[in-house]
Amino acid sequence: MGDGAGEDIWNASKEIFEEAVIKAYDGEKSITWVPLIAGQRSLEKTGNLLPEETLEEMKKHGIAIKGPLTTPVGEGFRSVNVFLRQVFDLYVCMRPIRYMRGMPSPIRMPERVNFIIFRENTEDLYKGIEWKEGTSEANTFIAFLKERMNVTLSDDTGVGVKPISRGATRRFTRWVIDYAIKHNRKTITVVHKGNIMKYTEGAFREWAYDVAKEFQKNITFDSQNDKILFNDRIADNMFMQVILRPEEYDILLCPNLNGDYLSDACAALIGGLGVAPGANIGDDMAIFEPTHGSAPKYAGKDMINPTAFLLSGAMLFSYIGLDNVSKLIERAIEETIQDRIVTYDLARQMDGVKPVKCSEFGEAVKKRIKNSSQWTVDSSQ
Ligand code: NAD
Repeated sequence: MGDGAGEDIWNASKEIFEEAVIKAYDGEKSITWVPLIAGQRSLEKTGNLLPEETLEEMKKHGIAIKGPLTTPVGEGFRSVNVFLRQVFDLYVCMRPIRYMRGMPSPIRMPERVNFIIFRENTEDLYKGIEWKEGTSEANTFIAFLKERMNVTLSDDTGVGVKPISRGATRRFTRWVIDYAIKHNRKTITVVHKGNIMKYTEGAFREWAYDVAKEFQKNITFDSQNDKILFNDRIADNMFMQVILRPEEYDILLCPNLNGDYLSDACAALIGGLGVAPGANIGDDMAIFEPTHGSAPKYAGKDMINPTAFLLSGAMLFSYIGLDNVSKLIERAIEETIQDRIVTYDLARQMDGVKPVKCSEFGEAVKKRIKNSSQWTVDSSQ
């Protein structure tokens, strides 16, 4: 269920998932939950942020949905979220940015927003190779740079390393291209800052193109025809493009940090963090989770928006081939929002709308799923 406000969104969402499966499969399928503990709650109970049993169970099932986990500020364990991505080698982070009708948006034509941010999930500055200013490690590193590389940094510098490798870039790009082909996507845009960081982000761009060239049958580089157009944009320009011309973008292929920044910025186009879902995917494991964190300010207040978590669940159902369940959840959310039943985060962006509680929004979505009649199971699933 996660930390902070995670418990509220879990309480509002659990029965929606159960109801959607029952509805889509006429009671023939149902969910068996395997609850696992991690994060702050686990630290208090077991003295461990991420118990071994949790990891073992996750490995056994190969799929999980998780609420946001608080990262304690200060020294020590960097982040349970980042650790989970590394330990299961979840090298693809997928964050769909799709506008739903009825949602508030700061841009004039938000219905043009429909793209997916793919973020390389294991490298870049998230590798956590950095040393605090004044420590012997930082001083050793600074001395090495001076003696061996002819680079001078002042003694009061904190230093970090930004690793981006050919191997990790290639497997990530290949995964995303396979996805684009399978899902009939139109464009893949590499987002990089290669003009400044030539051998990390510039190399990321180059290696991504190298992989794309192996897909000549499906990919084109200059004109848009029936093939997928493969192009690139410098990251700062990309931030402007997604606001001014979102319809030109379909899949964004990003190194880790660019993808992180872009995810929250793009979430603002479609209603904010409360509605932005995500997934972390590797070859043997996938973890679905909202883009947002544990929103500690709202913990236990039954206020925050469960939509991002619900849509992450919808992604999970699609991932395991239950598209009907996923469509049912998405449609019920869209209808609820169109009826102007929204939590505080959306209400404050809309005129004359009184916010409902997290649990009330959940109830409204569940009711729409229960009452929906025209959903039949696709026999191919
Ligand atoms: P946050 O995402 O929790 O909150 C950012 C802002 O968005 C806050 O104003 C918050 O109230 C609001 N918000 C977030 N989710 C919302 C929702 N569903 N509905 C309405 N409003 C929502 O980010 P933060 O405050 O920077 O981080 C809080 C904690 O979460 C930190 O410990 C951080 O490390 C952790 N975190 C965890 C994850 C994860 O588990 N994947 C991701 C990001 C941050």
